[in-house]
Amino acid sequence: MKNFSYETRISVWMNKYHFRFDKSLGQNFLIDEAILDRIVAGASPDPEDKVLEIGPGMGFLTEKLSAAFGDVTSVELDASLCRILEDIFAENDKVRIVEGDALKLSMSELADAPARRGFVRPFKIVANLPYYITTPLLFSFLEQKDAWEEMVIMVQKEVAERIVASPGGKDYGVLTLMTAYDADAEILFTVPAASFYPRPNVDSAVLRLKKRVCPPFEVKDRRIFRRFVKAGFAQRRKTLSNALKNSDLFEKKEDVSLLLAQCGIDGKRRGETLSFEEYAALANAYFYFNEA
Ligand code: SAM
Repeated sequence: MKNFSYETRISVWMNKYHFRFDKSLGQNFLIDEAILDRIVAGASPDPEDKVLEIGPGMGFLTEKLSAAFGDVTSVELDASLCRILEDIFAENDKVRIVEGDALKLSMSELADAPARRGFVRPFKIVANLPYYITTPLLFSFLEQKDAWEEMVIMVQKEVAERIVASPGGKDYGVLTLMTAYDADAEILFTVPAASFYPRPNVDSAVLRLKKRVCPPFEVKDRRIFRRFVKAGFAQRRKTLSNALKNSDLFEKKEDVSLLLAQCGIDGKRRGETLSFEEYAALANAYFYFNEA
């Protein structure tokens, strides 16, 4: 089948397994070989690396990954695609197909599966993600950051722009700051809708996220930082002072002014103008405020 076009392969598997695309699962398969090659190259392949792929679909990226990396674990929710993938990769020892929901995934359990015991190397996550769950998936990966070292992921272009945004703009928000806490993100390239079958209504972008050893500025408590970031963006049109007063962070409203003054931050600013460093300063001051 390798010599056939991706469109032909799709139609062969559809007929053989009576497969029908399920829009609700974000099933848009990448059929542009040059883009598949660029995604693999973006993850700097090393045969020693272990790859975790989310949503292999009909295995077009999986096939490229298994040629470049030593070990590929691919998690697919759709049972009918899993049967096709088991057929395609029956003779390929490097590929392990796992049927399941990536949102419920324990990466450390996957990495420590019986066949793979020994030194547990962190994964590289390489995937054309199902877009309808990009944000919860990303947060789940960030929370399991001991299990991975780098991600090269295709996401909707708008989401990629939000992740790499700078303070002050409309794209800057919770996703930008929570990703920046754990990873250094860059857009590698954009991908037109015509590179997929079926064709989606949106353009896409490939992002590379390299895990940080520590956040860009010291943060005493990640959960407090996250609460400040959420409060700062919950009401974009309000001043920071009002947004914090309306949040569940403060029992006494006058404490908001005290905290802002202590950090040298003007409460009349809007949350979307604060840098990572300023959110970190607020969260740390709050941490000490409540410790004292
Ligand atoms: N990797 C393939 C490609 O590039 O051609 C397919 C990518 S397609 C955008 C997303 C894939 O994720 C689909 O195969 C879909 O069935 C799968 N998927 C959707 N939700 C999932 C979930 N919760 N866990 C794992 N896979 C999921």
